[in-house]
Amino acid sequence: MLLKTAPHRVWPIQVGVPVYNDSRLGSFRLNIGLILYYWLAGTVPKNQGYRRHTRTDFSERFSYLDSTELKAGYTYFDAQTDDARFVLELIDGAQAIGAVCLNHCKVTGFVEHKGQLYGAEIQDNVSGETAMVYATQLVNCTGQWSADQKNKSHCVRLSKGVHLILPKTLGNEALLLTAKADGRVFFIIPWYGQTLLGSSASDYGGDIDHLAVEPEEVNYLLSEANRVLKTVNWTEQDVIGRYAGLSVLKPSANTSLYSSSRDWELITSDNGLLSSIGGRLTSAREDAACIVDALCKNLGVNKSCKTFDKSFPWLPLGDYQQWADTTLKKAVALGIDSESAHWLLRRHGNRVSGVFELIEQDAELAERILPELPFIAADLVFCAQHEMVVHLEDLLRRRLPLLILSKMTLVELQRLAEIAAKTLDWDDDIMTKECELCMQKWLIR
Ligand SMILES: Cc1cc2nc3c(=O)[nH]c(=O)nc-3n(C[C@H](O)[C@H](O)[C@H](O)COP(=O)(O)OP(=O)(O)OC[C@H]3O[C@@H](n4cnc5c(N)ncnc54)[C@H](O)[C@@H]3O)c2cc1C
Repeated sequence: MLLKTAPHRVWPIQVGVPVYNDSRLGSFRLNIGLILYYWLAGTVPKNQGYRRHTRTDFSERFSYLDSTELKAGYTYFDAQTDDARFVLELIDGAQAIGAVCLNHCKVTGFVEHKGQLYGAEIQDNVSGETAMVYATQLVNCTGQWSADQKNKSHCVRLSKGVHLILPKTLGNEALLLTAKADGRVFFIIPWYGQTLLGSSASDYGGDIDHLAVEPEEVNYLLSEANRVLKTVNWTEQDVIGRYAGLSVLKPSANTSLYSSSRDWELITSDNGLLSSIGGRLTSAREDAACIVDALCKNLGVNKSCKTFDKSFPWLPLGDYQQWADTTLKKAVALGIDSESAHWLLRRHGNRVSGVFELIEQDAELAERILPELPFIAADLVFCAQHEMVVHLEDLLRRRLPLLILSKMTLVELQRLAEIAAKTLDWDDDIMTKECELCMQKWLIR
């Protein structure tokens, strides 16, 4: 559904699955799994089916894989996105039809009357101002923070996952592999010209506001990748970026993390608070529709959600491929290198015309921000102007994932902060403070 409603935001990616002599998932089980996977996916374009490959065929296709114990292999299609932009685009679409969206603003408490919620207390984290918001229905969509015991909403199980960014290794395809150490699956995926490796998984009971990537998690991922990739021997020095996240799972004392349910659930507390628990990015549109339906029912509105399979707001009109071909040519004619142009279209969809306008006014903005990454200066300026940026980290980690995709130096960071400062009207003091915040969190490792 996402591939259809947001082809600029969610694109197909071919995944290779090697079958080794000692693979936990042998050919038989993989075959059954893929039949089920495709059956659940519904109609899939002909060229995006799955295939079994002989040992020779698979090792030729994935020549960087160690083929010593290889028996055969499979390829199938999955889909890829940029999660931060996925969310940002939906927020922009919601604002366009009248929603009020606040960032850097925290719910600090709820207001109840006779045991029923009727509002929330909010605090602007930038100005420190507080305010009250009143509503008949409140929905808690705070992901891992719904596990915060202070909120006492309910019990959940948290699984910590770590991803590493490493230099380019693959072509356009990804790999699904099984870790020798614990039998868990992990991926090696091309992302913005680099390689995304992950994730590790472990139960988490620590501070949810301060997640750290531990050395043993880095070692685990590197040694599992080195075991199957014959063209690299990655060490910690090769790690360009790293980040950790928490998945919200249903509590289950006896099951392993791997087999714990990732199903989404909407829970209603005694005071009327609805809480969205668990789920995946993949199914988020459908889960959101269920929330809207529940709200309508509670409010006595006889309507159901109409937007779950609605096109994403930045989807260009007409035939997407035709639009992409024409727009790519225009981008290259403006002086953008073809790799950056390719990603730019995905990043901005129909809003790319705004980025082009910036280059028409200043041709130098067609240059890359950092030589090794496919992002151009006009993209940075456009994001700073139009994408609710408050802090430098919003811009350099979220709107563009530069801080995890490069080993940025302090000088480079300051150069980018100067560009942001011009657009966001920061004085020298603010700029220095913003650089320090980014440095502490992302440059000192
Ligand atoms: C390592 C890892 C790998 C994953 N891989 C995949 C994958 O391959 N495919 C897939 O589909 N899904 C994947 N997921 C799952 C996916 O990321 C989550 O399902 C999704 O992010 C959950 O979205 P959410 O909106 O529920 O929560 P979140 O994304 O956690 O958003 C919660 C928001 O609430 C805000 N918030 C918290 N407290 C407050 C407060 N008091 N006041 C105001 N705001 C608050 C937070 O700032 C945050 O913005 C993965 C998750 C992890 C951790």
